[in-house]
Order: sequence, then C-alpha cells, then structure tokens
Amino acid sequence: VVTLSPRVGRLRAPNPGPMTLDGTNGYVVDGGDGTWVAIDPGPDEPAHQAAFVQAANERGARITAILVTHGHPDHFPGAAPLAHLTGAPVVAHPDAPFPHDRTLREGERLRVGGASLLALEAPGHARDHLVFVLEDEAALFTGDVILGTGTTAIAPPGGDMRVYQRTLHRLRDEYGDARAIYGGHGPEIRAPRATLDYYIAHREERERAILAQLSVGARTIPQLVAAIYVDVPQRMWPAAARQVLAYLIALQREGRVRSQPPDRPPTDEERALLAPLRGRLVDDPARAVVLAELGLDQATPDQAYALTS
Ligand SMILES: [Zn+2]
Repeated sequence: VVTLSPRVGRLRAPNPGPMTLDGTNGYVVDGGDGTWVAIDPGPDEPAHQAAFVQAANERGARITAILVTHGHPDHFPGAAPLAHLTGAPVVAHPDAPFPHDRTLREGERLRVGGASLLALEAPGHARDHLVFVLEDEAALFTGDVILGTGTTAIAPPGGDMRVYQRTLHRLRDEYGDARAIYGGHGPEIRAPRATLDYYIAHREERERAILAQLSVGARTIPQLVAAIYVDVPQRMWPAAARQVLAYLIALQREGRVRSQPPDRPPTDEERALLAPLRGRLVDDPARAVVLAELGLDQATPDQAYALTS
C-alpha cells in the first residue's frame, strides 16, 4: 500500500495498458477504529484482492465495505472475490451492471469509523459513475471522471459529452478547493482546481476545433480526426473517432450540426478507423476494457457532418 494521507492508501492493480495507464488504482480508507473501506477492487486478479486483505490484516484492520466507482471491467470484477474473502458488502450506484449488496445515491453517506464518504452521482464517462468525497480530508475519489494523467475517454453509447461537462463544472464549483483527487488511474492530484480547469478547457477546445472544421464544409469523422488529432499517434485514432462522435451527438441534439450521406465511400484506412474491431484490436488482451471505455463494439457512423446555419 502506498500511503497518500492519514486515512488513504493506494493499491495499484497489475493491469497496465493503453486505457489503464499504470493499472487501475484501488484505494483503502482507514476509519481509525479497525475498519477499512476498499474502493475499486479492480480486475479479477486473485493476487490483487489478496493484497487488499493482507494490507488490512497487517494493520489489525478489516475491510467492512467495498465501494465501486463504476461498472467498467478494469474497476469492478474484483468486487465479488474481495467480498468473498472479507464478507464485506459491495456498494455501488443503483444502476451498476454487476452484483452489489447496497447502493449509494447522490448525497448519501457511508460511515467508516470516524470518517464518512459522501456519494456524488457523476455521470458522463459512464452512466453509473459515483465519486466519493472523504469529507474530513477534503479528498475526492473520482474513478475515471478525473485521471492522474491526461484526460479520460467519453465514448458513446455509455459516455455522454454534455452530461460529462456538467459533472466537471459541478466538481469544480463545489470541490475546486479540495485538497486531493485520487483518480482511477495515474498519480494523485494535489491541485484539484487546476486539473478541473484543464479538463473543462480541454473539452471546450476540442469542440471549437470541430466547429472550426465544419465551418468550412461538411466533414466525415475520419476527416475530423485527421485534422484535429494530428498530435496523437494514429493507432489511437479509432478512440479519437469515438470522442469526436460524442461531440457530434451533442451538437446534433442541440440542432447545431446535421448529418448527411458522405459524398464518397470511405477509403480502407477510414473504414478501419470507423470499425477498428475488424482489424488487429480483436486480439488485444485488454479488449474488454477497450470495448467498455471506447464503445468500440459499435461501428462509428459513416456520415458527413455540417453546421446547420
Ligand atoms: Zn471507465
């Protein structure tokens, strides 16, 4: 366990990858009375779940609840095995797509000894996403809403850009002065307001770039990706296509953008970008994570997009 504060420790899961950075961060919160809460037990990796139990045992504590931020396959599958080892209940959002014993909704608290964890509903990356606030340390456990490095993926159908942006604004308005953010991947964040500002600005900047491209004529998603993500390695472009789609869905819903048939069929390269699972990604060992994070089990629409006015 890496000690991050008087109450918080981190256990990183052994699942590094393009979507998970160094691996999924699991956390423990020490109630100070021999009870611990585990947050994000990670993938089903017996050694990782055993590490949670061992960490508690070494300090004469026991895990009394297992919280899960959201139902993506690098965060929740360890919950059932850890529950089996500890007898602790699994606690999640009511819509979490995995077995859980208790739910937490917006504004509800879970007590752990002398501390409490407040649940915030924080949709956008995933519909069932919860953020937990450790109130006496002014610290946030943000899962994949905020990461320790870079930005997160907002990919339809599970991801919704406007809903996500509302979540970011809410976190900045209400928790900009927090002392720490412990994200689902990457290092801890000690200057939350700067990170929240950056996340908000980054989304606005990408949207402006898309609108600027559309202002000079209709564009397909592969054309938008090639123009906007020039600084991103091409192997990440299928992921970028899902991000662009998330903006286009929002803009279409708002009546600012319309779609139309493209004026030519996609090239082979463009086709691969729109439906990457016909290619190499199928054999990726982290396939389930990639599918969930990027929605890549769905083909990205072969449409051209244009401004409505
Ligand atoms: Zn996720």
